[in-house]
Amino acid sequence: MRILVTGGAGFLGSHLCDRLINDGNDVICLDNLFTGRKENIAHLLGHPRFEFVRHDVVDPFKFEVDQIFNLACPASPPHYQYNPIKTTKTSVIGAINCLGLAKRVKARVFQASTSEVYGDPEMHPQREEYWGHVNPIGLRSCYDEGKRCAETLFFDYNRENKVDIRVIRIFNTYGPRMLANDGRVVSNFIVQALKGEDITIYGDGKQTRSFCFVDDLIEGFVRFMNQTEIIGPMNCGNPGEFTMLQLAELTLKLVGGRSKIVFKPLPSDDPKQRQPDISLARRVIKWEPQIPLEEGLKRTIAYFSKQVG
Ligand code: NAD
Ligand code: UDP
Repeated sequence: MRILVTGGAGFLGSHLCDRLINDGNDVICLDNLFTGRKENIAHLLGHPRFEFVRHDVVDPFKFEVDQIFNLACPASPPHYQYNPIKTTKTSVIGAINCLGLAKRVKARVFQASTSEVYGDPEMHPQREEYWGHVNPIGLRSCYDEGKRCAETLFFDYNRENKVDIRVIRIFNTYGPRMLANDGRVVSNFIVQALKGEDITIYGDGKQTRSFCFVDDLIEGFVRFMNQTEIIGPMNCGNPGEFTMLQLAELTLKLVGGRSKIVFKPLPSDDPKQRQPDISLARRVIKWEPQIPLEEGLKRTIAYFSKQVG
């Protein structure tokens, strides 16, 4: 197949491009390199079935493709809050551009949605039926509401124009190729521990997240995209739930060194708990994560040791 991956030079996008190329597809990677890097796809640049296009999803684009994976959007809070209006435009206009293209060329189109659509959830663990508890006017809203509006557009294009959609809700995912200065918790803790700097816990560290290793997630993407039973939304993530204190202690144990844990103010609207209910993924795509946190952290630490070292 010919496949377009928007955001293909980012953390998840570059792993997806690797997987799609390995499966024998032709891949077009479209990215404006805001948080993505050419290094992430450098090994693919000479490949006869791979093309890189530097382009912004907010501006229309046209490619003859069979599938579109829409991943373009900064994902870490400091990056998506850097230019919040642009973040909403990327999610909303980017979705419209992908859906318009999918409609024209009759491609199947995949939306990388997020557990953030559940906001600071009042239902635990989060099931796909839950409508969420989201602040529409806070600092995280550009991302949360942008992604919610993108979901709305996907379902309206499906109902109105019969566009063949797949909407997946990704929970916190980590692994090699995250940016060292990305600002997300796993990369922050690992880089701080490797440099012997203080480990910065925001708030009291009792808030929870559920962390999925990138290889598990990409397997879920491909299985979900290539089945015809459901269009989503479908949760994809690792149900293992940890407090930020536990994550800091585990990271320190694995990296070693002399870092101390310090406490910083909690950012506004920071969700208190998050854990995916993955019964739907288990049933439909027979998927569940295989890589436990400790193993995934070891692989990620090995990556950052080379970057930071
Ligand atoms: P990332 O920041 O590494 O990747 C995003 C990519 O999109 C980058 O390469 C960036 O340059 C590109 N991009 C941003 N704005 C663009 C624009 N206007 N036009 C073209 N390209 C643009 O983040 P990631 O973790 O790889 O996330 C990929 C997708 O998955 C995002 O849509 C994100 O919202 C979603 N997601 C990720 C997670 C996670 O834990 N990693 C969780 C939920 C959802
Ligand atoms: N966090 C932290 N220290 C850091 C970075 C993040 O304690 O250096 C916390 C953050 O407040 C949140 C959790 O870790 O409660 C996950 O943050 P991240 O930005 O990775 O993802 P998100 O909040 O979008 O789930």
